[in-house]
Amino acid sequence: MTPLANLHIDIDVRVHTILEGHADWLCGKGCDGCCRRLAEVPQLTFAEWELLREGLAALSAERLQEIRMLAISSQQDRPLTCPMLDRSSGTCPVYHQRPVACRTYGFYVQRDKGLYCHDIELQVDEGRLPSVVWGNHDAIDQQLARLGESRSLSDWFECWMRESCTTELTHPE
Ligand code: SF4
Ligand code: SF4
Repeated sequence: MTPLANLHIDIDVRVHTILEGHADWLCGKGCDGCCRRLAEVPQLTFAEWELLREGLAALSAERLQEIRMLAISSQQDRPLTCPMLDRSSGTCPVYHQRPVACRTYGFYVQRDKGLYCHDIELQVDEGRLPSVVWGNHDAIDQQLARLGESRSLSDWFECWMRESCTTELTHPE
């Protein structure tokens, strides 16, 4: 099993544990808020990009071109909507191949940065989410760093178009 697959399993276990104890958890109920409120385009390691490409390969050429153009355009507006989001249905067309950041959002906390999701943070502030054992995002970042350099989705698309995305672009420990 690859290190990325192992990381996915760790995250799935944490997410499952949280959902098990909180049946009304906001995520997974058709919420696409985080996909529409990105500070930047998604950042991925090479391993995540390779997996993502499997999902992208299943899309129509037209849809793929649309995503690629959105990803490489220098959008100035913030927050950003993820280039991959299906804006009409609010669904992720590459859900099973999505980056680690998408898997952890809403379930993990980064020391010094608080909770990522303000909707969930509000519930915490109001005392509606007692006894949550959050995942530790610093540990996720450390594991991701071991997979190699992270680049923006835009960069990966550009090097894909130049056919220069190789493992040499990454610098694993
Ligand atoms: S993390 Fe927040 S915005 Fe994202 S799906 Fe969960 S509740 Fe919605
Ligand atoms: S890759 Fe999918 S889950 Fe992640 S931000 Fe984009 S649309 Fe949302």
